Amino acid sequence: MPTGDDIAAEPPPIVRRERKLLLIVLTAMGAGIGLATIFVPAAGILALTMPPLVVISLFRARRWARLAAELDYRVCTHCTYQIEPAATRCAECGCDFDFAVAAEQWKSVAPRA
Ligand SMILES: [Zn+2]
Repeated sequence: MPTGDDIAAEPPPIVRRERKLLLIVLTAMGAGIGLATIFVPAAGILALTMPPLVVISLFRARRWARLAAELDYRVCTHCTYQIEPAATRCAECGCDFDFAVAAEQWKSVAPRA
């Protein structure tokens, strides 16, 4: 039977989804920029736009985690909507809400103190 400790390492679904999207975008950008440099060598400078995307994504995840901590981890892990006390379902997206799971997932992306 899974406990809170077993799921501690997994980030919330909204963070995992954003990381997957970022990987796809960076791969497409890398391929596009790589192809463009065949015809215009200076196009390689466009690669400088890629690291900021990673930083922005990291800060977004940490901002959500900070918000979740401020709201005592009663924040939906699928859409970041605030969950009412005793609610077991998100009023915004309809996903099930398990407080113990949500708290562990939000803590996994919070900056280490
Ligand atoms: Zn939700």
